[in-house]
Amino acid sequence: MGYAGAGGPRIISDAGAGRQPAAGHARLGAPLPTRRHRVAENGGSETCVVAGERIARYGFPDGHPFGPDRHDAFWRELVSQGLDKRVQQLAPRTATRAELELFHDPGYVEFVIARSATGEGLLDAGDTPAFKGVYEAASDVVGAALVAAEAVMSGRARRGFVPIAGLHHAGRAHAAGFCVFNDIGVVVEHLKRRHGLSRIAYVDIDAHHGDGVFYAYEDDPVVIVADAHEDGRFLYPGTGAASETGSGAASGSKLNLPLPPGAGDAEFLAAWPAIEAHVERYAPEFVIFQCGADSLGGDPITHLRLTEDAHAHAARRLCAVADRHASGRILGFGGGGYNRRNIARAWTRVVEAFVEAA
Ligand SMILES: [Zn+2]
Repeated sequence: MGYAGAGGPRIISDAGAGRQPAAGHARLGAPLPTRRHRVAENGGSETCVVAGERIARYGFPDGHPFGPDRHDAFWRELVSQGLDKRVQQLAPRTATRAELELFHDPGYVEFVIARSATGEGLLDAGDTPAFKGVYEAASDVVGAALVAAEAVMSGRARRGFVPIAGLHHAGRAHAAGFCVFNDIGVVVEHLKRRHGLSRIAYVDIDAHHGDGVFYAYEDDPVVIVADAHEDGRFLYPGTGAASETGSGAASGSKLNLPLPPGAGDAEFLAAWPAIEAHVERYAPEFVIFQCGADSLGGDPITHLRLTEDAHAHAARRLCAVADRHASGRILGFGGGGYNRRNIARAWTRVVEAFVEAA
């Protein structure tokens, strides 16, 4: 991977780019416990953060932009702002193979296990190298996302954030763009099958189009997609044109908003009402927010110039959407971001918005 579209403009891939120039619980409709009950139960915070060593080790070696230091860049900033004291801290767990296969093809899971044992070779066509233990690390990322989803579905928390998650390029049968297993897809399947949800909003403001999620659910009306990203003519993966709106029964349920290279907060805020209106129209029962920090100015592999204010705005507005329609249920996933300072700023602003949501 790396460059999509032979003969077309050069497309920067997540990885290549660094080297290139350029239920057991609530059923559908069941109300969450009352606010007073929840607060008493969890020590006062309605937001959980799932973090720790297990997901920190999901990162690629040898100076890869998606290195294993991204988790700590976030965590240090969270602590320095005192936000760690204002959330429930939950530990990740390992997703089972059956959970991975809610979304992924068994043959692909086998392939990752084999590459993980040797640590040799690539998992895709070039951006996503194998390393020893990549299967376990990637399974822990999925498990962390499931811990957050269960905390929210059970009413233990109202909102959840997972820093190393939101691996939106992985497909059902392939790795792509630094993403081995698609934790978003597994959570979606879990919410559909285990909890019977039928309207799940997926909002993605990572600089890259969330192709792994989009194409897995292109014809599925359950997943309402709104994805703002750098125009695919200029950036990996090259997809996500405004004309792509879903197919069949899902026609119209997907919104793609390509932003021109160099777009900043003004362009983002101008586009935002369309995202919110689209999601609002479907009255989602659950909101998933992929808040990739690579859409901020200064990212080494993209060309958008948002600030963390955009991420905070989106988080606040989506909490309000979730409160109106989904009993408050929202998950934030960190997604991409290769400038460590941007990761720290954007993700902590999202957590802060979750904590301070009414
Ligand atoms: Zn990205």
